[in-house]
Amino acid sequence: MLDYTFTEEQNILRQAVREFAEREIKPKIREMIKARRIPDSIMKGMAKQGLFGMAVPEKYGGPGYDPISIGIVAEEIGRADPTVSIPVLFLVDNAWSYLLSKYGKESLKQEYLPDVAKGKKFIGIASTEPNFGSDVASMTTVAKKTGNGYVINGEKSYISMVRDIKENGGGFVTVAKTDQSKQGTRGTSLLFMPYSEKHLDVTYLEEMGREGSSWGAFRINDLEIPSDYLIGKENEGFKIIHEGFEFARALISVISAGAALESIGRGVDYMKQRVAFGKPLTKFQGLQFQVAEHTAKMETALDMGYRALWIYDQEQNHGKYTRMQVSKEIAKAKLLSTTWAFDAINDSLQWHGAFGYSKECPEEWALRGIRSFQLAEGSREIMKQIIARETIGKEFI
Ligand SMILES: Cc1cc2nc3c(=O)[nH]c(=O)nc-3n(C[C@H](O)[C@H](O)[C@H](O)COP(=O)(O)OP(=O)(O)OC[C@H]3O[C@@H](n4cnc5c(N)ncnc54)[C@H](O)[C@@H]3O)c2cc1C
Repeated sequence: MLDYTFTEEQNILRQAVREFAEREIKPKIREMIKARRIPDSIMKGMAKQGLFGMAVPEKYGGPGYDPISIGIVAEEIGRADPTVSIPVLFLVDNAWSYLLSKYGKESLKQEYLPDVAKGKKFIGIASTEPNFGSDVASMTTVAKKTGNGYVINGEKSYISMVRDIKENGGGFVTVAKTDQSKQGTRGTSLLFMPYSEKHLDVTYLEEMGREGSSWGAFRINDLEIPSDYLIGKENEGFKIIHEGFEFARALISVISAGAALESIGRGVDYMKQRVAFGKPLTKFQGLQFQVAEHTAKMETALDMGYRALWIYDQEQNHGKYTRMQVSKEIAKAKLLSTTWAFDAINDSLQWHGAFGYSKECPEEWALRGIRSFQLAEGSREIMKQIIARETIGKEFI
């Protein structure tokens, strides 16, 4: 039987986050853009609301929320911040602290997760390198085994949340070669890399959008970590890294849909009061049909996003569906939601006329921010590759 209803608890959670976002996030977006950082009051408010490390189990001080509930929060934050800076911090921290909760060693979890759940420390993902994003075989970061741990050397680039982690503490789930004799994804491990002033040589990068985010690259110089910082099994990192990416991609799907629906809403409000040729813009059927098409697409994308989170939950917590089925469903949702959201926001910007192109217009911020999701946590081409592989069959492509 199909049941598309949220639980009573989920509705209450949505209402609480919506009220928080209306009060604390929406009025401070301009301040964030100007300062190019998320205001402290928002960070503290989110921590107080328990919006960081939401999947962290109760044993480590978290609330242990399910993926759909976390998706509800992601959607609401996506609706509140057109730049998507705050949604990015939310989704990265929640998806990758979940992976750490699932596969981290007990001592690592005891050390970090209670502070992550309190919003005192943050968890990022450092996978991409200057010469490797989609193609894992080109990875050059190496973690060399020592007597009781690993020494990491290499370079990571285009990494979100660098400043947040540097200033607050925490670290990155990273991926490195632990057996260089093996090719491709084999011989790679997932490791926890704590932020280290001494061993990470950071360069900040300027972004096209996401003004509140911090984005950077770093050289990793002889960073020594204990063996307990290995996440999952040695040389089998690529068997589990996708569980983190998929959670993040499903969250991106609902964030993109929420952000685009808000943008359509703002566009419609503008069209109602803007008069051209003696009548409001809403009287023009050409524009009405654009509103109808974008609304149909984005509401469908929102459903797909929640279905992606549901299927992820079914696999992770109830042993249903295969990894490949989950990958495909989530890739579908991320591909369509991020592509359609960009198109919807682009048209909403157009409905605002010249004002849409000005820095004063939220659609201008939104268009630049949403564009990032066609690359981050797996590009749109890689989403197509996953869907094609599962549809056509691995042996035929
Ligand atoms: C805003 C932003 C935030 C990011 N944050 C993080 C982060 O926090 N942590 C992190 O590790 N990374 C992060 N990234 C990096 C992101 O994951 C990569 O950009 C992405 O995986 C693509 O890798 P690449 O940039 O190296 O492109 P490449 O892999 O070099 O690809 C270049 C282009 O070719 C396409 N392409 C590649 N292979 C194929 C193929 N086989 N068939 C068809 N097309 C192909 C790609 O889709 C892309 O369009 C972020 C990126 C952005 C833009």
